[in-house]
Amino acid sequence: MSVTNKGWKNKNGTSNRTCNCGSWKNHWINNSGEKWPDRCSILGCNNSATLGAHIINNNVPGEYIVPACDSCNKLSSEFDLKGGIKLVSANKQKTCEQ
Ligand SMILES: [Zn+2]
Ligand SMILES: [Zn+2]
Repeated sequence: MSVTNKGWKNKNGTSNRTCNCGSWKNHWINNSGEKWPDRCSILGCNNSATLGAHIINNNVPGEYIVPACDSCNKLSSEFDLKGGIKLVSANKQKTCEQ
């Protein structure tokens, strides 16, 4: 799927959410078909990717998971993603619980 890299925000209040994959990191791995990346997906960040962050965009319907670091997962401002980041739907009915 090809969507904009710009204008993403963390979705608040997702820390208690779970899915069949065990973690959102595993959810991303299971549904992206790609290897977990070394680095965080947020543009300008070189930290290790440690978790799957829930992100949203005013111009894109739905919620997505991307590999991110702890500090980017806490950003309250908008951020851009690096190029070529695979967005995995956070909608369980479309992914791991269909
Ligand atoms: Zn899942
Ligand atoms: Zn980061």
